[in-house]
Amino acid sequence: MNQTQERPKVVIVGAGWAGLGAAYHLVHQGYDVTLLEAGGYPGGLVAGWKTAQGRAVEAGIHGFWYPYRNIFALVKQLGLSPFTDWTRSSQYSPAGLEVESPIFQQEPRLPTPLGTFLYTRFKRLPLSDRLSALPLLYAIIDFDNSDAAWRRYDPVTARELFKQFGVSARLYKESFEPMLLVGLFAPGEQCSAAAALGMLYYFILAHQPDFDVVWCRGTVGEQIFRPWVEQIERTGGRVLTQRRVTDLILKSQDGGDGTQVAGVVCGDERFEADAVIFAVGVTGMQKIVSNSSTLRQFPEFCDLMNLGAIDVLATRLWFDRKVPVPLPSNACFGFDATTGWTFFDLNTLHDEWKNEAGSVIEADFYHANQLLPLDDEQIIAKVHQDLTTCVPQFCDAKVIDSSVVRLPRAVTHFSPGSYQSMLSGRTSVSNLFMSGDWIITRHGSWSQEKAYVTGLEAANRVIEQFGIGTSAPIVPVEPDEPHIEFARTANRSLRDWSSRLLPSLWLP
Ligand SMILES: Cc1cc2nc3c(=O)[nH]c(=O)nc-3n(C[C@H](O)[C@H](O)[C@H](O)COP(=O)(O)OP(=O)(O)OC[C@H]3O[C@@H](n4cnc5c(N)ncnc54)[C@H](O)[C@@H]3O)c2cc1C
Repeated sequence: MNQTQERPKVVIVGAGWAGLGAAYHLVHQGYDVTLLEAGGYPGGLVAGWKTAQGRAVEAGIHGFWYPYRNIFALVKQLGLSPFTDWTRSSQYSPAGLEVESPIFQQEPRLPTPLGTFLYTRFKRLPLSDRLSALPLLYAIIDFDNSDAAWRRYDPVTARELFKQFGVSARLYKESFEPMLLVGLFAPGEQCSAAAALGMLYYFILAHQPDFDVVWCRGTVGEQIFRPWVEQIERTGGRVLTQRRVTDLILKSQDGGDGTQVAGVVCGDERFEADAVIFAVGVTGMQKIVSNSSTLRQFPEFCDLMNLGAIDVLATRLWFDRKVPVPLPSNACFGFDATTGWTFFDLNTLHDEWKNEAGSVIEADFYHANQLLPLDDEQIIAKVHQDLTTCVPQFCDAKVIDSSVVRLPRAVTHFSPGSYQSMLSGRTSVSNLFMSGDWIITRHGSWSQEKAYVTGLEAANRVIEQFGIGTSAPIVPVEPDEPHIEFARTANRSLRDWSSRLLPSLWLP
């Protein structure tokens, strides 16, 4: 950009992975970037802070899976080394240890899904139950993340899908549903089958190493977001906290083609903009739509009110003694009918607690609706009891400090039928773009990686519109393995063929 050219003003709303991703790229391309965050610090769902006693806590611990290629590239570009080594994980039920996972990339590589099937060490689940997953491979092939595939599978519940494909009740209850509870934060009867297939393929099935995971060696806020925000500010971007956006200012108010956004309203303040990127979660977006006299005229934004969000609970417990926990990261099922939970040995994962005299454990509960009304004491007693069920030595350990973070309606509910109400990156306001882990994208990633990628996609849409700067490189997900690609191509041809021959009388 030459010096006389005015820098386009871009306002980004929400400072999670999506908003910071967009801000970081655009500020480096010379845009005048203002990032507005409603909370007291950046990070969104990944924010971390200190308790009154100066102990680090966060809104749930976050893993970074093998396919998070864009986040790993960013961290390298920022010159950070925040991660642990690849960690092994296990799964517990009230009956005890159920599953141990190896580090899949260290095992001889097999065509997917053989490695996942053969190397995962199930302690109790009989082989016959595991084999009942085989027919499901057809749905995995058929669901290729296209719009048509989402429309075919999204109206069906994940439970119905697994039932239709003959998955045994035990495999469903002890393997698939626990994965849905921690991956999509909801039990199978409340999850879209499309989201279930997309999530399982991305995190587990696409390639043998995909389930390998690393963790930050402290809070993600401290290890990644703080230095990242500093770099954005050093490059000239403004990151303003305690700024809750309540409405948009439109240039022409008719809501027709050519409608453009001219800025955002933030309480008594106005921020002018040549382009706006929304990077807020579903609940935040619904609050904006409900308050906004401008967004109300667009059916696509009103439709967002059909979407749901899920309650999550994040707890951290400090014990008076060290209890040996076999593996640092653990997922649990069967303790509550509709809730999944995970616990982490922070003495192993976080540098800060390595030399602590007692155990420091993070325990996070997903779809925790019925737990949120409990008081802190009741919650900590429950966590202590559930931990003791998994690792009996916790029985004698005393909790000497704890933190309870309630996150009502925090994460997107990919409920059956929700796809039709979701937005993609472009909107009918030509200079208003969407990003976040819930919007429609064909990239194929999920969670933090998806949020970051959609932030980059939004930045690239701004660059395309103004013709200033270079697009952010986005690393695509690793291609399908050749046998999966072959099966998908054959399946698509068969579908095309049959759609030409048969009348379209049936539901997709
Ligand atoms: C307990 C828990 C555990 C998780 N574990 C993992 C994991 O292990 N791995 C993984 O990859 N993902 C995990 N996730 C999911 C991950 O946190 C999200 O996918 C990701 O953080 C979403 O980022 P985002 O930028 O889309 O949105 P968010 O992080 O929700 O950021 C949106 C931001 O917008 C702000 N905002 C909202 N409304 C307004 C407004 N009106 N004006 C200004 N700002 C506003 C919010 O304050 C927030 O900071 C977990 C989530 C939770 C809750």
